[in-house]
Amino acid sequence: MKRLKDFDYHEPATLDEAVVILEEAPGDARVLAGGTDLIVDMKIERLQPSTVVNLKRIPGLTGVDLVAGGIRIGALTKVTDVEESVIVQSRYEALGTAASLLASPPVRALATIGGNVGRASPASDLGPALIVSSAVAHITGVTGSREELVEDLYAGPGETTLAPSDIITHFFLPDPPTGYGSAHVKLGKRGSGTDIAMAGTSASVVVADDGAVAECKVALASLGPIPMRASHCENALRGRVPDADVLAAAAAAAAEDASPIGDMRASADYRTTLARVLTLRALRGAVAAAGAEVGVR
Ligand SMILES: Cc1cc2nc3c(=O)[nH]c(=O)nc-3n(C[C@H](O)[C@H](O)[C@H](O)COP(=O)(O)OP(=O)(O)OC[C@H]3O[C@@H](n4cnc5c(N)ncnc54)[C@H](O)[C@@H]3O)c2cc1C
Repeated sequence: MKRLKDFDYHEPATLDEAVVILEEAPGDARVLAGGTDLIVDMKIERLQPSTVVNLKRIPGLTGVDLVAGGIRIGALTKVTDVEESVIVQSRYEALGTAASLLASPPVRALATIGGNVGRASPASDLGPALIVSSAVAHITGVTGSREELVEDLYAGPGETTLAPSDIITHFFLPDPPTGYGSAHVKLGKRGSGTDIAMAGTSASVVVADDGAVAECKVALASLGPIPMRASHCENALRGRVPDADVLAAAAAAAAEDASPIGDMRASADYRTTLARVLTLRALRGAVAAAGAEVGVR
């Protein structure tokens, strides 16, 4: 069996120690969380880090907790724990569903929410769901701590805007406003939800008292180089009552937002069709979760 290339391995006990090791390491240094992406990438030699820094001994990086104004999810929280969190299920339906559809139970038991964002896969399930939940990543690096919207962390396929010594410590998801609902829909190659997405859509809406969509966010997976907002779709929905025609027009606009490639999972044309079909389902799900009447022809 092929061996991994040699690398230095560290298990620091504090964040400060981890940041210094990452900063001072020669060449490529990587944080290790659940390892479901990083170890695979090292085995296939997509990545050959000189240094691997396992975060597992650092306290305070796990858990889903109610905090002032929202919830805090530690970056090392396993996807299983996100999926099973009653707080997530009851307030952020898109994220709960996305976690439940990521890979298989054994992978979800190892994989972390921070690793999912850190990997920056265009096919990420959690990325779009975090984006439509207005999630903010809290990051610690050599220059101190800062906050960034998750949607601003994606730079390209497999690339983030994080500096080499940056560590995501946790995510903050603001309290959903009255009239809020969200949903996540995905289709995998074998027709199953748990395969890597051929395409996926997360949507959130805020339905006002007059029945119109006051605010909405739609984000796509496997439909462009990064998990990304679908602004044409959002513009077609915002300010309108979500009847059947409005939802159909917004879903059709998502196909304009998509810029998919063709690969072994699906052709670009098929993905463009999926952008419309899956977005329609996600919009209907979000409107229903908001407690509003869903426009269906
Ligand atoms: C069989 C299989 C099926 C999969 N199916 C899916 C799927 O359906 N949907 C999906 O979205 N993903 C899928 N994945 C990908 C993977 O499981 C997820 O992306 C997972 O959430 C990665 O988390 P991890 O903790 O294992 O990350 P790791 O592998 O430990 O790290 C991944 C990357 O993120 C960086 N990183 C990790 N933690 C942090 C942090 N706190 N701060 C900064 N950078 C960090 C690492 O340095 C590395 O570059 C699948 C993987 C496998 C092996």
